[in-house]
Amino acid sequence: MEKEYDLLIVGAGPVGCVVAEQVAKQKGWRSLIIDKRDHIAGNCYDRTHESGVLIHQYGPHYFRSNKKELIDYLGQYTEWIPGNYEVKSSARGELFPFPINLLTLGQFFNREFTAEEAEEHLNKIRIPNDNPQNSEEFVLSRVGKELYESFYLNYTIKQWEMHPTELNKSVCGRIPIRFNKDIRYVDHEYQLTPKEGFTEMFGKMIDNDLIDVKLETSFEDIKNLVKPKIATLYSGPIDAYFDFQYGKLPWRSLDISFKEFDEEYKQPCVQINYPNDHDYTRSVEIKHVTQQKTNNTVISYEVPTWKGDPYYPVPADDNAALFKKYWKLAEEENKENSVYFSGRLARYTYINTDEAIEMALETARQIIEDAEK
Ligand code: UDP
Repeated sequence: MEKEYDLLIVGAGPVGCVVAEQVAKQKGWRSLIIDKRDHIAGNCYDRTHESGVLIHQYGPHYFRSNKKELIDYLGQYTEWIPGNYEVKSSARGELFPFPINLLTLGQFFNREFTAEEAEEHLNKIRIPNDNPQNSEEFVLSRVGKELYESFYLNYTIKQWEMHPTELNKSVCGRIPIRFNKDIRYVDHEYQLTPKEGFTEMFGKMIDNDLIDVKLETSFEDIKNLVKPKIATLYSGPIDAYFDFQYGKLPWRSLDISFKEFDEEYKQPCVQINYPNDHDYTRSVEIKHVTQQKTNNTVISYEVPTWKGDPYYPVPADDNAALFKKYWKLAEEENKENSVYFSGRLARYTYINTDEAIEMALETARQIIEDAEK
């Protein structure tokens, strides 16, 4: 490779793009980003499907944040449109607003609830537990058995092929439970989507003479050819970096299929969850979010699997313990060879895109600080 690089960045996802952009802008450093896939943006990658409809190739990304600074930072590279994130869940042959809110409870118990009445009712049916130890205990302690079994139990088993008792409470704890009529999927203050898509946004972010991108290139292919002057940023799976020497960390993947329909919209909202029927967990019509104007539409169906690219770390105690062993190696590798591990795959952590970007900003800051020592 004829050019010299300050940074070698493994992975062209949100973390790789942000770090390359930050060190270019703040320090004028030159980066090479590599990715084994044939596109940038990692699992945020969106593209125009054969039908002409914009799709999220690796499952829906509902961008949200509570931080205005983050929205402004990304706003340099995209216009925003409102994120219309509404989800329904299919149970007993009906579609219910999800996450559970006053409207869900009203429809489920066939009566109207004020917030106080709902609290009172849930107090009667929930299984009190001040210190839930897993996802099952957590949900039971909030909404009781019937709602848990209708909306959570089978979805979770399908998604993880594990029982909710085996998963940290943070897994089902991602989903709010509300005593109002807010039907949005998440609570965050800013719920926005890049107007032209995520790929476009990350593409603009790294559109810089100091940043080169080499796709369809693995770390194995390049690590002996490119020796960066300052640091390596690794955003791939941490167990792979260390040749699985302590064994494999489990990663959950998705087998996603796309189907075109000859109508403007097929579903009433972007996402329908199927806890109790089908082999797929959810059907997603991302057009509700992208607001693209087309006469046809595309729905994606997600079937969770252990095969394929890593999407989700599996939040369970034994995996956290195994990750810790790898993290020790990562700390040594950082000291000895200036390799930085950042992002969902490198930190084995179930974070959202906004959190991954914040992590990347922090990693870039750290790389700069260490280099200046
Ligand atoms: N979940 C559930 N029922 C649902 C939706 C989610 O039980 O209808 C549980 C399930 O265990 C899932 C977790 O809550 O893995 C987090 O859901 P989320 O929709 O945030 O998952 P993601 O979009 O990250 O796949």
